[in-house]
Amino acid sequence: MELITVKDKDYSGKRVFVRVDFNVPLDKNLNITDDTRIRASLDTINYLLSQNAIVICSSHLGRPKGKPVLEMSLEPVAKRLSELTGKQVKFAKDCIGTEAKKVVDSAKPGDIILLENLRFHPEEEENDETFAKELAGLADCYVNDAFGSSHRAHASIVGITKFLQDKAAGFLIEKEVNALSKLLENPERPFLLIIGGAKVADKIGMIRNLLDRVDTIITGGVMAYTFIRANNWETGNSKVEIDAIPLAKEIYKELRKRHLEFHTPLDHVVADKIAEDAHYFTTERGTVPIGWTGVDIGPQAIEEYVDCIRRARTIFWNGPMGVFEIEAFAKGTIEIAKAIAATNAFSVVGGGDSIAAINKAGVADKISHICTGGGASLEFLEGKGLPGIDVLKK
Ligand code: AMP
Repeated sequence: MELITVKDKDYSGKRVFVRVDFNVPLDKNLNITDDTRIRASLDTINYLLSQNAIVICSSHLGRPKGKPVLEMSLEPVAKRLSELTGKQVKFAKDCIGTEAKKVVDSAKPGDIILLENLRFHPEEEENDETFAKELAGLADCYVNDAFGSSHRAHASIVGITKFLQDKAAGFLIEKEVNALSKLLENPERPFLLIIGGAKVADKIGMIRNLLDRVDTIITGGVMAYTFIRANNWETGNSKVEIDAIPLAKEIYKELRKRHLEFHTPLDHVVADKIAEDAHYFTTERGTVPIGWTGVDIGPQAIEEYVDCIRRARTIFWNGPMGVFEIEAFAKGTIEIAKAIAATNAFSVVGGGDSIAAINKAGVADKISHICTGGGASLEFLEGKGLPGIDVLKK
């Protein structure tokens, strides 16, 4: 997929509207607890500054549902962005109207502006044309670097490009699209898909689209229990996505046609409750007793999965193998993270929890690519065009 990128353009002296994803977590005192998303767009921001542009950053934060919410203001992000860029970021208290215009009009080339939360206006998520035109009116050019929001047809992602014809993808989007495209177009074989977590139905489309590309699939979490149940094995009180069982049965049919290697865990850690003080033990597949809940893959499953990982040349991982937030049930997920890090395979990891596990295992620098947008990466791999990326194609 060929995108128009910032490298194709000259931004000298221009006002550039940069859609970023600064949707960072804040604590009760409005301190940023993880600034990964801000750091992820620094390459693009610094590049535009080096081109002597006026950089107008714009983002959403949380779900304010179309009205101003103090706790979801981007003002703390402006402070952090100032620290990270070494420049005084000018904060505009609204993303449109006189507030925004005043700040933009007073800016000089080389300045950075951050506009207030786009979603304080319902028109952002409605992809409203008048709102998009107002945003566009602040700038001469458009750059999208918000990969994690590009599956949404919102005003700052899609609508705005009707009014700012000079548009391009930032470095983050370019990097994400290149890594994910590598999985879809000619991945080096064997290609291993590792799929876990709790949102089963959300991931079925991605599994289906990858069936013609992967050699091996390994499963964990609620995903695995849903497949195990679709095969009529006992799962005790393990969490299963009942509505997704017919979809899992369809996937089984497709797997048989293609003779793919597909694994559910050979054994499980089962607990009497999902809590720090739970009682737990290990049992084989199909023998989870009533009253007990599967919370992690067992030692035999880990051994088998690590072997699959060692053989792979391309790996995509989304979703933990168990309830890894609880220390006693994190082993399967952490072992998977470590095994991926130990290979030379091209590895891509997506989804907040898998990324958290990679960080917990301390192996982030050993992963070829970590996706910044879980939902967007799943939709991309599902083969659906992303509206925000489609408008940036050459
Ligand atoms: P997802 O967002 O689909 O990747 O799901 C991640 C969530 O799945 C995490 O919060 C895990 O605690 C949860 N999870 C993984 N395995 C299990 C399980 N066996 N039972 C209940 N929840 C699980």
